[in-house]
Amino acid sequence: MSKQTVGLIGIGMMGAPMARNMAKAGFQVILCDVDTARARELAGEIGGEVAETPAALAGMTETVVTMLPNSAIVEAVLFGETGLASAAPKGLTVVEMSSGDPNATIGFGAKLAEQGVQLIDAPVSGGVPRAKAGTLTIMVGGDEAVFKAANPVLSSMGTATHVGILGAGQAMKALNNLVSAGGFLIGIEALLIGQKFGLDAGVMVDILNSSSGMNNSTKNKFKQYVLSRDFDAGGFALSLMAKDVGIAMNVAHATKTPAPFSAACADLWAAANNMLGQGADHTAITRMCETFAGFELEQSKEAAQ
Ligand code: NAD
Repeated sequence: MSKQTVGLIGIGMMGAPMARNMAKAGFQVILCDVDTARARELAGEIGGEVAETPAALAGMTETVVTMLPNSAIVEAVLFGETGLASAAPKGLTVVEMSSGDPNATIGFGAKLAEQGVQLIDAPVSGGVPRAKAGTLTIMVGGDEAVFKAANPVLSSMGTATHVGILGAGQAMKALNNLVSAGGFLIGIEALLIGQKFGLDAGVMVDILNSSSGMNNSTKNKFKQYVLSRDFDAGGFALSLMAKDVGIAMNVAHATKTPAPFSAACADLWAAANNMLGQGADHTAITRMCETFAGFELEQSKEAAQ
């Protein structure tokens, strides 16, 4: 029996390990990326194929996954000159796994539906380590029957939960990252205040982690990537976090929900993105907080171990 095919557009930090896991689960994966050389290399590694453009991919499979930086790029990939929609047959399913803007995705869904193409959103949490392990948390929005049909593909990458209408997965994802981004920032400010008072930052992290102030950043990022002064958590760019927190604010505005604390958090991530530039890891926002404070957190040797 021939293998079931899946197309994947976007083979970056997340897309590449996701492709490996789809292949491992028995799917014939067809890769598409602006970096066609990388697509060819990865296809060679996983026994997959390459589509030169999204339009070419449209005729090669019934299911296409997108894992791209943002909704503007997704729009270009779907509706641009050589975009998927230009050649998409009726019945094609698009699974939009990027952390995109739910309102943009709802618009894409309506446009694709006009030509009989179904769209669901299925963004993920867990970062590169869990993309590699195939244990991502996947939040799905859209038609439940389309989700059920796509679930075998999603299951090769993690565990999927249906959370609501089209866009609901991306709203959930942005709100998750809002919580994560806020937890990171407040923790760094606490370390700076504590160090100025005379506390040891490493000891503070230990105490936080066995107290009610513990969060994912205090547990999994502060010693590893901040107090080590490594500022490279292995794959989640500052620009992506700033985008996600901005999307959460778009959702707040669209739902007319006052969120002043979140707005301050979003402004700080946007400022850090301007200040530290493209290519910076999200943990590098610490440097902006240190600039505000006028001193640096002390490097902890123990933290790097
Ligand atoms: P990335 O920048 O590493 O990869 C993006 C890929 O898309 C690259 O291979 C790039 O060449 C390709 N691409 C860009 N424009 C394209 C186009 N027009 N046509 C085809 N390919 C194009 O990004 P990433 O870290 O893999 O993140 C992808 C998505 O996953 C983002 O929406 C991000 O917010 C989300 N996400 C990332 C992480 C993480 O830890 N990196 C975690 C959860 C969710």
